[in-house]
Amino acid sequence: MKISIKRGTKEIGGSAVEIISDNGQRIVVDLGLPLDAAVNSPDLLPDITGLTQKTGDLLGLLISHAHQDHYGLGIHIDKSIPVYMSKESYNIMKIAHEHKLPNAFVFEKTVCFDNKNTFQIGDFNITPYLFDHSAYGAYGFLIEADGQRVFYSGDFRAHGRKRKLFYKFLQNHPQNIDVLLMEGSCLGRESSEHYEYEQDLEVTFCNFWKESSGLVLVQASAQNIDRIVTIYRAAKKCRRRLVLSGYAGHILWGTKNPNLPNFTWSDVKKFSTKPQKSHEIGIDDILENPQKFVILLDYHIRQELKKHNAVNETTAYAYSMWSGYKEKYQKWLNFLATKNAKVQDIHTSGHADIPALKKIVASLKPKIVVPIHTFCPQEFKQMFNNTICLNDGDIFELSSK
Ligand SMILES: [Zn+2]
Ligand SMILES: [Zn+2]
Repeated sequence: MKISIKRGTKEIGGSAVEIISDNGQRIVVDLGLPLDAAVNSPDLLPDITGLTQKTGDLLGLLISHAHQDHYGLGIHIDKSIPVYMSKESYNIMKIAHEHKLPNAFVFEKTVCFDNKNTFQIGDFNITPYLFDHSAYGAYGFLIEADGQRVFYSGDFRAHGRKRKLFYKFLQNHPQNIDVLLMEGSCLGRESSEHYEYEQDLEVTFCNFWKESSGLVLVQASAQNIDRIVTIYRAAKKCRRRLVLSGYAGHILWGTKNPNLPNFTWSDVKKFSTKPQKSHEIGIDDILENPQKFVILLDYHIRQELKKHNAVNETTAYAYSMWSGYKEKYQKWLNFLATKNAKVQDIHTSGHADIPALKKIVASLKPKIVVPIHTFCPQEFKQMFNNTICLNDGDIFELSSK
């Protein structure tokens, strides 16, 4: 078996890995849009034969989770290429597409897999492992061919609401791993030791909101379901109702998980410009009792708030996303400053911290660790003496057994 990381050896995002069996059959694992891409252009496709015009030896594309930096360039591929992904990822992509989100699309030929159910693609046996990550339904893959075993971590963490998955994996993981391709997003960041638990953010939100007698607003991704649950639980503690966009509500509903906040709950409302149904609420009702609500913002809701002059010095705004996206919201942040609104960053990473990386390597005991999805691959060497750092496009051949 041969592995070639086409993009991701020295960057976060845009991940793409080609895996080639001894017979020459090939699969691609993730086909992400680079984070720094100005537009999603086919020119960004990595150099992989058969992507835009399928060849017989290219058997399929495997998507770890529904984040653009793992599937975004898939929009350009030949529609006859089978794409394997979780049902959760499929639903998120479908709903984002239905709501016409920028860059949203669906694959033509999708095959959905289930957690820990091994399936075959030609020479390859694939076993998906559900992990804790800021995307719902994020998987790592055990990929077996030619008597060799590669584990691709995808994006994962050990401090989210589903962190039990991580510890279950440590107790019951695949054995005899030859190569572990592991994400290292945390490396090079200011603090990469012991990230704050997702559930602990509830208290941080509450403490921030307690200072406000007015409206509280949160900027978070509607697809970060862990975070929506955190915000909902914090709102409940502060006796506020959660107001969501129709899209955010649809994403939650699309999980088919009745334990997640949804519009059938009396304390979850759908923002509407023309509220009619009992689960809908409009700006006038919100502004009558602003202290009773927490609004998860989207572009449209921000415009409505501006239009109705709803932001003032009693407003509390939490920026609850990766700081790297902040510049997109600069205009809005400037607007908040002119209104003297209180602003606070409340966030914990969607990615593993250093202790989690060390735990997974200590348990799996792979023969070789290859960094991916990181700006600082060399830092792996300081932690794991069996690290091999590759360059994008290098072909790494596993010694045959
Ligand atoms: Zn990623
Ligand atoms: Zn991700």
